Amino acid sequence: MEKELLVYIDGNYYPKSQAKISVYDHGLLYGDGVFEGIRAYNGIVFKLKEHIDRLYRSAHTIMLQIPVQKEEMINIVLETLRRNSLKDSYIRLVITRGVGDLGLNPKKCLKPTVIVITDTIALHKSETKEKGATAMLSWVKRDPVDATTHEIKSLNYLNSILAKIEANINDVDEAICLDKNGCVCEGVAENIFIVTDGSIFTPPSYAGALPGITAEVVIKLARKLGYEVAEKNITPYELFNADEVFFTGTAAEIVPVREINKRQIGKGKPGPVTKKLMEEFSKLVQSPSEGIPIYK
Ligand code: PMP
Repeated sequence: MEKELLVYIDGNYYPKSQAKISVYDHGLLYGDGVFEGIRAYNGIVFKLKEHIDRLYRSAHTIMLQIPVQKEEMINIVLETLRRNSLKDSYIRLVITRGVGDLGLNPKKCLKPTVIVITDTIALHKSETKEKGATAMLSWVKRDPVDATTHEIKSLNYLNSILAKIEANINDVDEAICLDKNGCVCEGVAENIFIVTDGSIFTPPSYAGALPGITAEVVIKLARKLGYEVAEKNITPYELFNADEVFFTGTAAEIVPVREINKRQIGKGKPGPVTKKLMEEFSKLVQSPSEGIPIYK
């Protein structure tokens, strides 16, 4: 029998099938918690420090005191990977408000639950990445910045899930959420970029998207390659008429989009800017200077 992956929960490691938390945990009852999705490539945890920093910013915003310091959290992630002998992995870090009673008051939750899962993920098939994905604008808008904003990477993903359901029932690969003003915001678990006349644009932070770590990496990479990159409001009209559209995300990496709401994007296949960025990004993620090694 194949050895089961070990999952870290509050200081202990459990085989995947026995890694369980209480039904009274407010992460389950109310989606009260925060999380991160991180990737390790060839023994290097890509941008681990940046993900840990974002995790603590999310937690700070919802006044959730993570019971371990950042340095220790990094070690827990690395140790979990080592115990599972992993070099390439998708890591899910989850901090919930912890066990409380059936009321929603977080005051009743005495200790946050810390979970580290190291496994794999496949969001989009390699064929989709080669040909380009199909997408649609969803009827569900992104929560605004003065509500349950997606700037917080919280356990409340129903907003994205509703959009994904629309994509599923319409048989397209991905959904795109608009912001409350009707401008383009982001994918369900990806940031979004358009390329118009050789320049790259992405929605501004007040649109309410998650400040993506992949997006930040891609912006830096694009500028280094000589492209102009700017934040700007993007209307559906501009999206439909862009030369290229692509998503970025830790799990998704870079995904070209070839069609949105049945309108062909550009030439209906991955464009030259997106292809160049995909090529350079796949080299960058292997670079030891871009992350923290699992095995010293
Ligand atoms: N937006 C949302 C809503 C997400 O869940 C994700 C995935 N973490 C992203 C964007 C992309 O962010 P990152 O590149 O940091 O993974």
